[in-house]
Amino acid sequence: MQVPLLDLKRQYQSIKDECLAVTEKIYESQQFILGPYVELLEEEIAAYCGSQYAVGVSSGTDALLLSLMAEGVGRGDRVITSPYTFFASAGSISRLGAIPVFADIDPESYNLSPEQVEAAFRQMSKSQRRSVKAVMPVHLYGQCAEMEPINALARENGWVVVEDAAQAIGAEYKGQRAGSMGDFGCFSFFPSKNLGGFGDGGVVTTDSDEYYEMLKILRVHGAHPKYYHKYIGGNFRLDALQAAIVSIKLTHLDSWTQKRQEHAARYRQLFEDAGLAEQIGCPAEIQDRHIYNQFVISVTEGRDRLREFLTEAGVGSEIYYPVPLHLQQCFADLGYQPGQMPAAESAAAGTLAIPVFPEMSRSQQDYVVEQIRAFHV
Ligand SMILES: *Cc1c(COP(=O)(O)O)cnc(C)c1O
Repeated sequence: MQVPLLDLKRQYQSIKDECLAVTEKIYESQQFILGPYVELLEEEIAAYCGSQYAVGVSSGTDALLLSLMAEGVGRGDRVITSPYTFFASAGSISRLGAIPVFADIDPESYNLSPEQVEAAFRQMSKSQRRSVKAVMPVHLYGQCAEMEPINALARENGWVVVEDAAQAIGAEYKGQRAGSMGDFGCFSFFPSKNLGGFGDGGVVTTDSDEYYEMLKILRVHGAHPKYYHKYIGGNFRLDALQAAIVSIKLTHLDSWTQKRQEHAARYRQLFEDAGLAEQIGCPAEIQDRHIYNQFVISVTEGRDRLREFLTEAGVGSEIYYPVPLHLQQCFADLGYQPGQMPAAESAAAGTLAIPVFPEMSRSQQDYVVEQIRAFHV
């Protein structure tokens, strides 16, 4: 049996007619950049996330970059973030000449630890502390970071909060949606996200009138009006085609999320029934609404051998992420050493994402657990 990590072909079959119809309309209109489909999606996303505004952009990475630009983060500034995330979180900070400051994660949730954020801040010199402009929590795998204490630290110290919600659309923390708790919420429509387009795309949410205006101006090279540049922005525009596809998918998102949650609950049961509770750690559901962009197990021993075994058996899996960011070669000049972020390093060595896509069948899921059991006997 084959169980891919994600099966977008199956999902496409369920929305094919809608997609082809809207695509045809856009081809006929020959209007491909921004425009009414993007505006409609922006309204829908703002409503879905419980934010005042949303601005469609070219990718999740650009959502992060644009948010930092809208706040004016630049050379010599510091932004505190997680070392255990996709590269874009820290990459967007460095690309602006700012310095990522890593604070370790909570080992249970894999999300940025508020205590570690505070500790990292306390360790800085006075002038370094003054240079901290923002904190960027990441809602990893589809579960929100501990936002209340992070927001409290930000308020106390005058930082802006940029939520990297690329993996967490619709996730909740104390009844609030991901992306609605910080100053900016950054989302990705990369195809493998829960709400993916047919290419690259993303969106930024905000409640602030000023940030909203600034995001829209910076999205088109900082021009306002056209050809008059008060700022240096970039091309961060979203395509009409992507927006239209994402709008269609948004109407299905809650039912897909429910399927993911059902699979997650069933995995817990199946691992227990298989007597694997000792060997396989299931994700801790700490916050209100985990949307399971990934179902990530922790394996005490032999993670890489388990992955090879699963690949041989036709089961897709992935390591998110094998090298924590503080140990990436490109950040060597920041001076971090192995052992400095023990929770992130141990997660990088012992976690594995297994299939949790909505369309996965019961027999496919049974097979995944059977294979993991076969590895252990
Ligand atoms: C996917 C992802 C991004 C980047 O999104 P793109 O649309 O691929 O640029 C940023 N942060 C996290 C945590 C992600 O998972």
